[in-house]
Amino acid sequence: MNATTAMALPAIERFKPQVVCPRPYQLETPDSYLARLCAANVIDLDHIRRRVHARRTRTRRPDELGYVINELGGPDIRHFHREYARTVPQLSVKAHMAFAVQPRTRPACSRCVHGVSVDAYDHRLFMICLKHNRWIGHRADEQQQISDLGLRTVERRFRQIATTGLISNQFHDGVTAALDRHAPVLRDGLWLGKQRQSHPQIDRYPALVRILTTIADYIDEYWPIEREIRTVHRRPEQARLYRSLRTSLAWLGGPAATWKLIDELVAVVIDSIIARSVEFAPDLDGLRLTSG
Ligand SMILES: [Zn+2]
Repeated sequence: MNATTAMALPAIERFKPQVVCPRPYQLETPDSYLARLCAANVIDLDHIRRRVHARRTRTRRPDELGYVINELGGPDIRHFHREYARTVPQLSVKAHMAFAVQPRTRPACSRCVHGVSVDAYDHRLFMICLKHNRWIGHRADEQQQISDLGLRTVERRFRQIATTGLISNQFHDGVTAALDRHAPVLRDGLWLGKQRQSHPQIDRYPALVRILTTIADYIDEYWPIEREIRTVHRRPEQARLYRSLRTSLAWLGGPAATWKLIDELVAVVIDSIIARSVEFAPDLDGLRLTSG
């Protein structure tokens, strides 16, 4: 920056460190953290948000909110980059997305955060809080205690699959949506729990995790995460997947009940494999944004 520009752009007014600096919760988004930090110090949140917006416009830094949080006494920018990176497959991490203006979020377990409203990054790393036996869901009003403690084993299995990096959010949600659509036909074939909760997502969780495990095993065998995917030949891949899923998902019911679901699962898996092959392609935009 030369002298003329420096004169035209006065130095950015920095924020003062605050007295109370709460600890960030697991996977908490910057905006959620900022709201709690402001509440703890009785600062007007909307005023701070307006100033963040004005500063972002001037500096053109996508993670301006991170600088502000750090000046106020909160964690540094890298903390949020790391937390965000945990929620997306390694290949598609674009650090600045940790500070997306309108990120997709999930609520934190309301028991863990003592009833305060805390938004976490939209993740598929866990569905049940094992500390509180609480189904977390995607909205705060979906949370409830689980009565079937067998779900704790299911949850541990789910977490194992989640750490493989084979299950993206889109993939997980695609399989869940397919199950929801075909649940009326599958009926009891879908029921693997011990005690019904009258909550469709919880009641189908054991079946969902079993299906995700089957598909993750398939992908791991034929398209392991370490392998670069340059070309996917759709037809032979479809044929192989149909053969594999018809056998491994026979527990869901006979062909008359499952063929439509299997059609959809094959499509979801192929989309997921193709999405990974695209991620291996040079991403100039990503390189530019993550180098700063
Ligand atoms: Zn909890």
